This record gives sequence, structure tokens and C-alpha cells, in this order.
Amino acid sequence: MNRTDVVIIGTGPAGLGAAFGLLEKKPELSITILDKSEVSSGGLRNDCKMNFTWPIGFPESCWDQSQAEMYLRRVEDFLEPSIMDKKNVGRYTQRAEKLGVRLLEIRQSHLGTDGGLELIRRLIGRLRDLGVEIALGEKAKDFDLESKLVRTDKREIPYKQLIVAPGRGGFAFLQKLMNKAGIAYRDNIVDIGLRIETREERYPIVRDYYDPKFYFPKKTRTFCTNSRSAYVVQEKYGDEDTGLWYSVNGHAWSSSRPENGLTNFAILKTVTLTAPLASGQSYARMLGMQAALLGGGRPIMQRVGDFRLGKRSFAESFTGDLYDFEPTLPSCTPGDIALSAPGKILNSVWNAMKLLDTIVPGLLHPSTIMYYPEIKLYANRPAFVDEYFRAAENLYLIGDGAGTSRGITSAWASGLRAAEGILRSLN
Ligand SMILES: Cc1cc2nc3c(=O)[nH]c(=O)nc-3n(C[C@H](O)[C@H](O)[C@H](O)COP(=O)(O)OP(=O)(O)OC[C@H]3O[C@@H](n4cnc5c(N)ncnc54)[C@H](O)[C@@H]3O)c2cc1C
Repeated sequence: MNRTDVVIIGTGPAGLGAAFGLLEKKPELSITILDKSEVSSGGLRNDCKMNFTWPIGFPESCWDQSQAEMYLRRVEDFLEPSIMDKKNVGRYTQRAEKLGVRLLEIRQSHLGTDGGLELIRRLIGRLRDLGVEIALGEKAKDFDLESKLVRTDKREIPYKQLIVAPGRGGFAFLQKLMNKAGIAYRDNIVDIGLRIETREERYPIVRDYYDPKFYFPKKTRTFCTNSRSAYVVQEKYGDEDTGLWYSVNGHAWSSSRPENGLTNFAILKTVTLTAPLASGQSYARMLGMQAALLGGGRPIMQRVGDFRLGKRSFAESFTGDLYDFEPTLPSCTPGDIALSAPGKILNSVWNAMKLLDTIVPGLLHPSTIMYYPEIKLYANRPAFVDEYFRAAENLYLIGDGAGTSRGITSAWASGLRAAEGILRSLN
């Protein structure tokens, strides 16, 4: 039987990092990368804002600073990003510090959703030139760890080493794999909050610092800021059987597209659950479904002016009354976020918004839109048997799906780390 040296499930940054990490040292390895999607490369398709500073994107339970920084340097050397300039940061930092808020200085690049697609095209071309089989539109359905076989919807692939990097969308798949292999996992952290959308002139810091990372008290932070040509989007979770729900998100196009004068970013609170209620995913699903129930199957949007008065928003808040700009995700239901979001989460986020409005005055203009829910699932972190994210014999679990990363560069770094584990086992 002809066994492929390494089969990688998922062409997101984690899978790509693993493939390039392996080929850098052992170009003779046979590698197959599968992706269920016809268009490859997972989260590189969305916005493609890359952070090159610890601890952004690195769960501290899996990484220490010096280790993460060593891998980040390798990611940066490989991707050769163009790091964006920052201005006037000292002014914002001073104001933040007075309020007990931290502004992290991050080295960032931004390709935009269209620029990300161009990067993917180059990376996939490079892998093909190196002899990697890229199997798009092929879904891994099952595996046999004993006989080292991956079953897809098209064939069976015998492997020597298996790397599974299915991203956040692959939780269910990963869970099935871990249950089958008897791999213990933890699932107790979730980030929940709102996405804020306003005119750029009311959050002008984005002209000085593209994606400012503010850390507020109570484990609350800003996340994923988009501007210039920025849009709020929704992601679908669940299915007809288990119940559908949505999380909002945001992205921007590259600087070659016309600007729309708006900015959006998330304010998220990290919730860590403890026994007996320890499933972050179940909790997130319940909150997502509650929001979908109140929003008639859609996320909810509310103008700050209405929220401050404790009133729900109506369609007219978006066309007349508090109208100032149109929402970029107009399919959301105008409503009352306070009826859906848990008090502890909403209080922390609102408190962060007030602090932010003092640091960057303008944010709390009545026309600013709050979208709910924005939920980030980071669960299902396996109990690894070594420091290279090996979860069982010949099996490595990496990327956001395995809880080893929370962003493009850290996902890529997790792939490099798994590649190193495999290379060591080969030597
Ligand atoms: C709208 C949006 C915007 C974002 N913007 C940014 C940003 O600007 N900067 C940033 O750092 N992060 C951003 N992120 C997060 C980032 O995309 C992820 O952190 C990163 O992509 C995780 O990489 P990954 O390789 O673990 O998984 P993914 O990138 O999700 O890739 C997983 C791949 O596995 C495939 N797959 C899943 N299951 C199977 C299966 N059974 N068989 C075959 N293939 C399978 C999927 O199709 C997918 O292509 C954003 C996310 C979203 C949703």
C-alpha cells in the first residue's frame, strides 16, 4: 500500500503553515492537503489582517512568549508582510492608562479580502510547484487511526502522519475524531460581545492605528477593527436539526476599493466556565439561538441612542429618526439587545464602550450601531501528549479548531510547530 507521508485536513493558515514547515526541511515528503471547500485556504479569505505581536492570537495555555515570538518571526520571514505605520499612539495610550485601560502596540499588516485571495493563489501555486497534492472540494468524513486511513467523500487515503486543521467551522468534525480516538478535551472558554459600526470620523484612531487593541477591565477587549472599505457580515452556525443561529463579524476590502467612510470592530468579553456547566460551545449556542429567537432568525441591531434610553430600535431608527448612515448589514432585525445578552456581558461591553468614548471621543454618538451577537468559539482544546500538538500516535490537531490559535499568524505558527514535531519524529 502506498502511504502518503503526511495528510493535512484543511487549507487554512494552520494547514498551510504545516505544509510549508515540512517542505522547508524535507522537500521530498509526499503531502496531500484536503479541503471540503472548492475555494481553499480557510480564514485567509476573510479580511486578512495579520498580527505579528505577542500575545495577539496566541492562547496562553498553549504558548509562552519566547516560543510564540520565535515562530512569529518565522511566519513573518515567510509571508513578508508590509507592516502598517502607526501615529499618535502615545496620546491614546496616556488617556487609556488614566482609565485603567491598556492599548497594545501591535505590528500589523492588512491585505483586505481581495488581497487575501491573491495571497492564497500564490501560496497554493507554490505548494503545487513543490509537488503537494491539493485536493479541493474533498471532504474528510472519517478516519481509522489503527490502520492510518482517512476516508473522504471520494476515496480512502493511507497516511503515515495526519494533521487535522479544520478551523472553527470544523468543531463537530474534530469532536467526533477526539471521541473516537478517546482523546480528552476541554471546552470551557468563549468570547461573547457586540460589533460596533460607526462613521470613521467618530473613531478617528483608525486613521492612526488600523486595528487598535484596547484591553479593558473584566476581560473585555476590542477585536478585529475594519475601516476604509469596511462591512459587517454574518456567519451561520448550527443546522436545521440542532437549530440555526448567527454570529456577526466584520471585514474590509483592500485599499484599492472605494472607501465607505465607516469603521466596525468587536468588543468581546471572555467567559471561562467552570464545572458543572463547562461547555463553552453549548453556552454560545444557547445565546446564539436566543438572539436568533428575539431577532426573528436574524442578528439584532440597535442604535446607541435607543440603547442609552433603554428603548428598542425600530426600522425608522435606521431610515429616519437616528439615521446618520446606513447599516452595512441591513438584514439584521432592529431590536433591543438588552433583552437577549446576559447582563454581565452587556455591562462589561457597555462599560468598555464608555471608556473608549473617553479615550477616542465620538464613539457614543446616538447613530452608532451595536450588532449582537458576536461570538467566538475557541473550544475543544485536546489534551496534547507533547509540545508539538500531537494528540495521539501519528495525529496532530492544530489551528483554531483545536484551540491552539485565534488568528491567522498564530494558526500558521501552530502548523509550523506540528511540522517540527513530525520532522523530529522522522529524524
Ligand atoms: C469573517 C472573518 C474575518 C476574520 N478576519 C481575521 C483577520 O483579519 N485576521 C486574523 O488574524 N484572523 C481573522 N479571522 C480568524 C481567522 O480566519 C482564523 O483564526 C484562522 O483562519 C484559523 O485558521 P485555521 O487554519 O485553524 O482554520 P480555517 O482558516 O478555518 O481553515 C480550516 C479549513 O478546513 C476546511 N475543513 C473543515 N472541515 C473539513 C473537512 N471535514 N474536510 C476537509 N476540509 C475541512 C475548511 O473548509 C477550511 O478551509 C477571521 C475570521 C472570520 C470568520
